Amino acid sequence: MREILLCKYGEIVLKGANKRYFEDILCKELRKRAKKHGNFEISRAQSTIYVKPLDDFCDIDSMYDDAMKVFGIAAIGRAAVCEKDIEDIKRVAKEYIPQFLEGKKSFKVDGKRSDKTFPYNSMDLAQIIGGEILEATRGRVRVDVHNPDITVKVEIREQAAYVHAGQASAAGGLPVGTSGHGMLLLSGGIDSPVAGYMMAKRGVRVEAVHFESFPYTSELARDKVIRLARTIAAYTGDIYVHVVSLTKIQEELVKHCDEDYFTLLLRRYMMYIASQIAAEHDSKCLITGESLGQVASQTMEAIAVTDNAASIPVFRPCIGMDKLEIIDISTKIGTFDISIEPYEDCCTVFTPKHPRTKPVLEKVLVEENKLDFKALADEAIAGAYTIRAEAY
Ligand code: ATP
Ligand code: MG
Repeated sequence: MREILLCKYGEIVLKGANKRYFEDILCKELRKRAKKHGNFEISRAQSTIYVKPLDDFCDIDSMYDDAMKVFGIAAIGRAAVCEKDIEDIKRVAKEYIPQFLEGKKSFKVDGKRSDKTFPYNSMDLAQIIGGEILEATRGRVRVDVHNPDITVKVEIREQAAYVHAGQASAAGGLPVGTSGHGMLLLSGGIDSPVAGYMMAKRGVRVEAVHFESFPYTSELARDKVIRLARTIAAYTGDIYVHVVSLTKIQEELVKHCDEDYFTLLLRRYMMYIASQIAAEHDSKCLITGESLGQVASQTMEAIAVTDNAASIPVFRPCIGMDKLEIIDISTKIGTFDISIEPYEDCCTVFTPKHPRTKPVLEKVLVEENKLDFKALADEAIAGAYTIRAEAY
């Protein structure tokens, strides 16, 4: 039996004249991903993208899992293809549908006859196929036309007939790339990978900057960050990670500036450097994993001070979330177990004992002006190197 996937788009249906553009991006993304899973044909009709295996070597299950990670697709249904012949439709429904009814109590069948030359109408189809499924499941499930656990659809189209096993919600959001490019400040923590995932869900193509502080931070810490990038790349697409060393900046801060301001000053360097790298790579926003009040550097006052060093908008999708909510998402997307591996971050070396939670910009700038801010930042940028993080 041949199975196909039917991908339904969500919000993009509303995009009027742009619909075609969004559909093209989605089809291209599905074609790219399909290569890993076999020889599939990707086509579209009536606000649905069809994913059809072309031979027996296609892995439809792994294709399904991958398609569930494509932003812009709101729901995915699975359907078996049959001949436009009532006996074949009965045979397929009996063989195909019971597996989806495991653990369920009720179902109903909706018939849909787009090809009016087919001799059975939608009512006939619902009745005949409903009867076949009841027989095949031997009383384990019942028909409930008002509130069924699963709606089985039987569809008679021009080229073939389909028996659908219902659909599941998929990744949702907007296709990656349709909202522009953003530069994610990616640490090894829990929050920033989630922030990258959330902005990609709104259609942002994500690139990343990671700050290290070798030898205070290790190669293992950097490798962890690359593994995090590869994990979210399953959703965002491959990510270029620009790695910048802050070692010299941190050593200069320690030598010349008031300890209470270390973290704030360091975060201003991060914002400035990330803005410069964003400009080089045509990224129009920065993205961080900050959450209001989580740590001293994430109070409103501290955020105002660090924002001031950025030259493009800074998006903080986790700003209103509790840690537990962020953890829920990181668990779902597979980054949590990596994030909690215990490696040092450049923010955790040289941390002040009494960080300022209500800093005043003028005072911060007095400390900052004890160093040649721009020269140190430019030197760090000049030493940056880039790693391409590919989805597993
Ligand atoms: P996370 O779990 O994302 O590390 P956090 O609660 O540890 O967040 P901070 O260390 O204050 O918070 O960092 C706040 C944000 O600054 C991070 O979410 C990330 O966007 C950015 N950031 C922090 N450290 C780095 C780093 N080493 N490289 C790149 N960005 C960083
Ligand atoms: Mg961190």
